[in-house]
Order: sequence, then structure tokens, then C-alpha cells
Amino acid sequence: MSGRAVASALCGLSIALSPPAQGFYDPFHDLLIIQSFRQVEQGPPVGAARLSEIIDLTAAIEASTQLDDDENRASDQYKHSMRPNGLDIAAAKGKSARDIDDQRSDAIRAAVRGDRVTAGRLIGRILHAVQDRKHLWCSCGPGSNPPQSRSSCNSGPCSEGYGNHGLPDDCNVSLRRLGSVAAVDLKSFQLRTDFDPEGDQWNAAMAQSIEELRSFLAGYTSALKTP
Ligand SMILES: [Zn+2]
Repeated sequence: MSGRAVASALCGLSIALSPPAQGFYDPFHDLLIIQSFRQVEQGPPVGAARLSEIIDLTAAIEASTQLDDDENRASDQYKHSMRPNGLDIAAAKGKSARDIDDQRSDAIRAAVRGDRVTAGRLIGRILHAVQDRKHLWCSCGPGSNPPQSRSSCNSGPCSEGYGNHGLPDDCNVSLRRLGSVAAVDLKSFQLRTDFDPEGDQWNAAMAQSIEELRSFLAGYTSALKTP
């Protein structure tokens, strides 16, 4: 699905949403969050609640957009399924997995106390991270994690943990500026997967998002049973 197709599908959604504060920077994430939420909401019940009862969907979308805006330094890259400078692939994956587990626990606690916005924000961050697995744990620039980061991913798919996304080594660049749909530099592997994902990247991101939402609902239900 092309970026433009995603954007137009997004515009056609009938679901009632207040627009994210910063606008739709990344239609890929926004649409995946909305569609995975809807599929889980309309699918067979998981546990004691429906998602819409315990999560604010708009807060999830806003938090995902904010993650790209505000947490994109080299050291933050594990939040986008990429390699921070100086971390090997196992360490980057481990950091991401711990972060996701911690945020899921916090989201469950927030939902149990009835805080739908905090639960939504945390779930938005988790979904963003798993949807970004299309970035394949590459590094920002050629000097980020040499020698594995020296080759470019611009001309084709990377092997997991290898290559760079065509960004500066310190990732210090405005993704919003780079990522405006009109000006997008699709030579960057990262931006191409964000704005023009392959069908299998889209399907994997959707499946992982649904799995995360169902696991959140299951965790919420067990937390209710635990005094
Ligand atoms: Zn990201």
C-alpha cells in the first residue's frame, strides 16, 4: 500500500476521532493503530473488557506521533526497532522487549484504575515499536555501528541488524521535515518502509499490533482477578 493510499484510506474512515494534536505525520502508524484496534474491538472478546472501555484511541495515536517527534536521538532508536549507537542487535532487541513489557504492565495498571488516556498513550508507544520492526534493527548512519552499519539499505532490504537507513550517524534530523509526504526521500530505507510499506511489512505490523492488543486485554483481565 503506498503512502498516498494509506492517507486516503485514513481520510475515509468513519470512526469518530479527534485529530491528533500534531496532525497525521505518519499515516502508516495511524492507520495500523486504528485498524488493529477495530479488529480486536470487533473480534471475539478477550477477557473482561472491550478495548474502547479501557483505552483512549486518540491518545494512542498522539503518543505514537510524539514518539517519532520527540524520541529519535541515537540512544532512543530501540524504541523504533533500530540499533542505538554502540549496541549490538541482541542488546537492542533486549532493550526494546524490556521497554515493551514495562509499558504493558504500566498500561494495565492505568486501565485498572480507570485512566484510559494513560493506558492509551502507553499502548500507542508499544504498537509504534512493534510496527517499526520493519526497520529491521538497522542503524541510523554508516558510522553508527561500524562495520555492520557501513552498507546502505537504500537499494534493497537489509539483513537484520545490518546496514543503515541513510540518516546522520547521530540520527539528529527532523523526521517530520524529512517525512512530509510531498518531500519524502524514499531512498531512505526507514522512510520508505514508513511511507510505502511492502504488503508483507504491512501484514506483519498488523498481526503484531493485534497480538499486542490482545495480550494487553488478557493482562488486564488477570490483573482484575489478582487482589
Ligand atoms: Zn518510529
